[in-house]
Parts: sequence; C-alpha cells; structure tokens
Amino acid sequence: MNTFSIAIHGGAGTLVKGMMTPELETQYRQALKEALDKGYVVLENGGKATDAVETAVKILEDSHLFNAGKGAVFTATESHEMDASIMDGKTLNAGAVSLITGIKNPVSLAKDVMEKSEHVFLAGDGAMQFAKELNYKLEDPSYFYDEFRHKQWLEIKDTDSFQLDHSTKKDSKFGTVGAVACDKDGNIAAATSTGGMTNKKWGRVGDSPMVGAGNYANNKTCAISCTGSGEFFIRGVVAYDVACLMEHKNMSLKDASNEVINKRILELGGDGGLVAIDAKGNIAMPFNTEGMYRASKSSSGKEEVSIYK
Ligand code: ASP
Repeated sequence: MNTFSIAIHGGAGTLVKGMMTPELETQYRQALKEALDKGYVVLENGGKATDAVETAVKILEDSHLFNAGKGAVFTATESHEMDASIMDGKTLNAGAVSLITGIKNPVSLAKDVMEKSEHVFLAGDGAMQFAKELNYKLEDPSYFYDEFRHKQWLEIKDTDSFQLDHSTKKDSKFGTVGAVACDKDGNIAAATSTGGMTNKKWGRVGDSPMVGAGNYANNKTCAISCTGSGEFFIRGVVAYDVACLMEHKNMSLKDASNEVINKRILELGGDGGLVAIDAKGNIAMPFNTEGMYRASKSSSGKEEVSIYK
C-alpha cells in the first residue's frame, strides 16, 4: 500500500511571534488540526485525494480565522468575492470559480464545476447561476462578516490601496487556505480557497483559482496549493513551475518547491509559500515569509502543526 498523507495551509505572511495571543494561537492550531485530521480520515478510510482536500479546505472555510469562506476579506464595495479551485492529479481534471459571493464553501462549487460541468473555470454571475442550478443555498453577507477583517477594510477603504491579507502590517491576520493529499492508490490532488485581497476592486482575481498558478496537481510530479502575493504567483506560474522542475530537471519535491519559493518567486518580488505533495506521499511546505499556518500528517507516522519558521 502506498504511503498516504495530507498537508494543509492557512496562509503565509508577516506573522510576528509575540503579536499573537496564546489564546488565538491555540484557536489557529485547533482549526488546523481539525482540518488535518478530518482530511486524513478520508484517506485512512480509503477515500480519494480529491475528497480529502475538499474535506480539509471546507473546515478551514468554515472557520472565521482564515481568509476563505466565513471570514473572507472585504472588497472595495464592502462585499466578499471569493475564489477557489481544485485539481485531480490522476485525470488532470480541474474546476475553479472566482468572484463568487454568498457561497458557504467555494471549494465545493469548484469541485462541482470539475465534476458536473464541461468546463474548468466559471466566474462571477455565471458561476452564481451554475450554483443556483445545483440548488446551492446562499448565505447572508452577515455569515461571512468578521470584525477584524472589517477593521482592516475600514482602515483603507477610501484609498486606492488594496492589501494582501498579510503584506506590510505586522498585526495582519492572513489566511488563504489550501490542501494537498496523496491517497492509498497513489493519486494526488490539490485545492485552494481565498477571499483575495482587502479592498480589491475591478473584479481582481488572484492566483488561487488559476490552474498552474496557485493550484496544480499531476500524479507524474506533484500537487501544490499556494498562498502569497497573487499577482506575482500568477506571473511566476508558481505551482506549475514546481511540477516543471520535477519533470524536466528531475528535481525532488523538496528541492523543486524550495527553488521556486526561496529563489524564483523572491527574485520576481513575490512573497508567500506553498504546500506540496508527490505520489509517494512526500511532503514539502516551504515559505519565504515570517510564518505560514501549516500542518501535515502521513501514514508513516509523521505529524506537524506549525505557524512560525
Ligand atoms: N494568493 C491570494 C490572492 O492573491 C492571497 C493570499 O494567499 O493570501 O488572492
């Protein structure tokens, strides 16, 4: 039997030790652990990697601590526009949604795009129409409200600036979420979900829903879920770049993901991190920021829940 494993993240950024209260840190660790364990159980019971990543990401979306689903950041018009994607490394099928609002679990809508439509990527009103046809219930905006996110928005709402959840402000919470998994059959998958950037406008879309940029999976190489400055991750085609280094330069998962996060994306000016897995169940979780909410668990017995370097 293949080693099966899962790795998740809740965003990377300027998380300075000491700015966080012990209570809050406990809450983050608990949320990460719950998502990790529930995703792992899917794999343990012989479930598919795609189901494991959806399960884990849904739990992170349901937590107000992270910038995805409940607790998503505010746009310039004080609304929420969420993006999500999922990819199956066995079939290379993928599903993505962007600029959606009112959907409790964007990752599930992305999975439905993958499994129930002929398409890969649905956006805005069209994606909402698709959700309606599948009888998705719409949540009231108050469901997504988080006081801290609202305060972040109030501080910059009348300016032209938009803010990565984790950029310059040392006290920022951050929290795009994602998961990668390798199941008992050696199939891998990746899923990513985010509210994007605070005060974003003009239908801004980041890397998270883009196949190859913020999310990618291919049994031949790796499954990747990214978090960081989306504009740079799009231009660096980060997730696919890791896969390319493995495929064409024969690099290991660890070396390839390190090269991209600690060299290539830095040279471009981007900051962030990723979680990565290969079809043997190996895991890598590099980041070039001060912290990244992350956790991993493998049938080989290894388990980790970490925030700082
Ligand atoms: N990558 C996300 C975006 O640009 C943000 C993040 O990871 O925090 O939308």
